[in-house]
Amino acid sequence: MQKYRILIVGAGIAGGAAGALLGRSGHDVTLVERSAGVRSSGSPVDIRGGALGVVRALGLEAAARERDTGAHALALLKRDGRAFTTIGMRAGPADIEIARVDLAAILAGAAREVADLRFDDTFEALNQDAGGVDVRFVSGAQVRYDLVIGADGQNSATRRRLWGADAADRRAPGLAIATAPLPLSIDDPRIVEMYNEPGLSLTVHPAGGRPGAAFIFRTDASPADRGAQVALLRDLYASMGWRAAEFLAALDDVPDLYFDRVRRVAARSWARGRVGLLGDAASSLTILGEGSSMALLGARQLDQSLRDAPDAPAALAAYEARHRPVVERAQSGAALGAAFLVPAGAVGLGIRNLVARAIRRV
Ligand SMILES: Cc1cc2nc3c(=O)[nH]c(=O)nc-3n(C[C@H](O)[C@H](O)[C@H](O)COP(=O)(O)OP(=O)(O)OC[C@H]3O[C@@H](n4cnc5c(N)ncnc54)[C@H](O)[C@@H]3O)c2cc1C
Repeated sequence: MQKYRILIVGAGIAGGAAGALLGRSGHDVTLVERSAGVRSSGSPVDIRGGALGVVRALGLEAAARERDTGAHALALLKRDGRAFTTIGMRAGPADIEIARVDLAAILAGAAREVADLRFDDTFEALNQDAGGVDVRFVSGAQVRYDLVIGADGQNSATRRRLWGADAADRRAPGLAIATAPLPLSIDDPRIVEMYNEPGLSLTVHPAGGRPGAAFIFRTDASPADRGAQVALLRDLYASMGWRAAEFLAALDDVPDLYFDRVRRVAARSWARGRVGLLGDAASSLTILGEGSSMALLGARQLDQSLRDAPDAPAALAAYEARHRPVVERAQSGAALGAAFLVPAGAVGLGIRNLVARAIRRV
């Protein structure tokens, strides 16, 4: 098996997993993260299906389970806050739900053992020829790599640099999401509560003792700054029932509001010569596409392809050919997921509620 000198850009879920796997396979791996530490929101993400095998193979299952949020069920509420049905949230009994920041930290810890993990730096220039990729870092270092992996998230600078600004289809499904950690009273730490009105949803996640609220709503607006984002939330949720007024009032004191459109990123190709894309940089759908599990599975597929293929470009091509269909399958239920989470109108909401009453209860 060939051993490569590899640069991974971004130490999130995809980058951390790839750093740990490729380092253990004996490659000479550098992981560069532009933030000063592990950067990620506290939003819970899922490790499910084959992705469980990736954390198991890395010996990280126990650490991940220790930080499982413990939430197992979703209660759908009426306007007065009483649940009209409660449904199971986990696709399988072994699934793990964990805060994104916790998973990223666990993976970064594993990567650090076998790779050079550098925070507070990123690339400034990438130039590839047939034999390698010359990288100049913001810190001033210049290094030649056999392979560069862009694992730098939805807004990937690697993708923009190599493929150009319009290389990814960035259609938005017409949804936006705002999340904030809020000091909320939680009745049952195993239950996520959600209340809907047409075009709006409001969720409280107990998140293993660090509760947070999520506003997911239908909009085409993209308010740029914090003031405009909060103003939009206040406007849309002003007359909503349940605890909307309480949450809106609490937004004033929230230090950390995450706000973004639910965007679909689908890079038309994931590999160009010796540069490849992994995780959300290649393909993502924010809350709707099982992105964290896809990032873990993609890292494993990349590692496997590097073992099997005769050279780095062939390995990247094989990785894309094998992993792209898996991601596209996972994302195929997005429209249904959006219709379930945030029915657009009163009729849709009525149908969603009928379906929810009929499906698996807990
Ligand atoms: C609010 C929200 C809720 C979500 N809920 C779920 C869920 O329930 N289930 C699920 O499976 N998925 C969910 N996701 C998606 C999931 O979080 C992502 O798919 C997953 O984090 C992808 O991992 P990644 O490593 O590709 O990207 P990220 O986790 O975004 O990591 C990218 C990393 O690259 C770094 N970086 C960026 N640019 C550069 C640069 N130029 N140089 C160096 N480093 C850089 C960033 O700082 C970051 O550390 C959710 C996402 C959001 C935003």
